[in-house]
Amino acid sequence: MVEVIDAHCHLDFKHFNKDRMDVIERARASGVVEMINSGVDLQTNRETLKLARSHEFIHATLGLSPNSLDQMRPKDVDLVLDEIRQNSGEIIGVGEAGLDYYRCSDPALRRQQIDVFRKVILLAEELEKPLVIHARETEDIAFDLVKDMEKVVFHCYSGSLETMRKIVDRGFYVSIATVVCRSVKHQALARNVPLDQLLIETDSPFLSPRRGRNEPSFILDSLNLIARMRGMDPEDLATATVRNTRRIYGM
Ligand SMILES: [Zn+2]
Repeated sequence: MVEVIDAHCHLDFKHFNKDRMDVIERARASGVVEMINSGVDLQTNRETLKLARSHEFIHATLGLSPNSLDQMRPKDVDLVLDEIRQNSGEIIGVGEAGLDYYRCSDPALRRQQIDVFRKVILLAEELEKPLVIHARETEDIAFDLVKDMEKVVFHCYSGSLETMRKIVDRGFYVSIATVVCRSVKHQALARNVPLDQLLIETDSPFLSPRRGRNEPSFILDSLNLIARMRGMDPEDLATATVRNTRRIYGM
């Protein structure tokens, strides 16, 4: 059986409340040997830690998503960042964090996103952890903000080929989500990320390659598609992406 890692998912989300253990079991039975669960705010960071504590094959990254900032005051932001710092011994990365202009058109809120993202960048540097970036319609701005960092993953990368090349030339990693199965744009990206810098993820429960809810076992859909597009054996692609994931996160 092909062994693969789902490099980004949200198993703590309510979409899995009825069958979380079944979903995790299905993933393992399909060859998903490890999963990286990412928090997006105070509550999901706490739930992510619980999942990582109870499953040795689930790893935690704790973050603060630009889409979680609604109504947050500066002291709420600091509380999230403090908790990440307090739990840094149990995490493999910081994030997801970043900028989402697709879902936010208000200039003041966009400025707030940048301010918070800068704080998360400083925290990742302080903790010496890789940074997991969520960037939507902001890939270039995000790149400029992180270009002096050491370890960066652009999760669910959806920007241009040109910016993707800047990202990989800088030595960062690009994670392609299962949306690749139904997006020509992502297929072009998936063909062009250098093999040594490519990660694959589901971003479950979102971006399903099938209908409805996504789950980590569906990573095989995109593994098979990307392998076929690149003229590779799925097994070789799995080996490469597992190796890349372990390298960037020090797993
Ligand atoms: Zn995510």
